[in-house]
Amino acid sequence: MKISWWQWLPFQPWRVVGAVEAADEIPDHLPRNAAALVGSEAFPKWIAFDCPCRTGHRIMLNTDPGRRPAWKCASVSGGRLSIAPSVDYADGQRRCHYFVRDGKIQWAKDTIR
Ligand SMILES: [Zn+2]
Repeated sequence: MKISWWQWLPFQPWRVVGAVEAADEIPDHLPRNAAALVGSEAFPKWIAFDCPCRTGHRIMLNTDPGRRPAWKCASVSGGRLSIAPSVDYADGQRRCHYFVRDGKIQWAKDTIR
């Protein structure tokens, strides 16, 4: 996956920067607020991004409606990313619970950081 140089510029909304064929091809280092798709832009199987809590853990969400749970991501084509339902990650120490809407993160109140 080739990431355009301008995707590394700061202050960009959450958006999709590219798609890869397999999960192990997702770049280790993604630009800030950037997500990568596994599959194609039209039919993504997964969406992957670094959690907006900025502690460095990666989020992988299933976007294949044939498998549950499944998330929907919208306006992926160069636009601002929306993901539904909310992203709810917990590892025993933290809970990252937020909505991705129109390229912005809205933290839920039960987030523990
Ligand atoms: Zn997090």
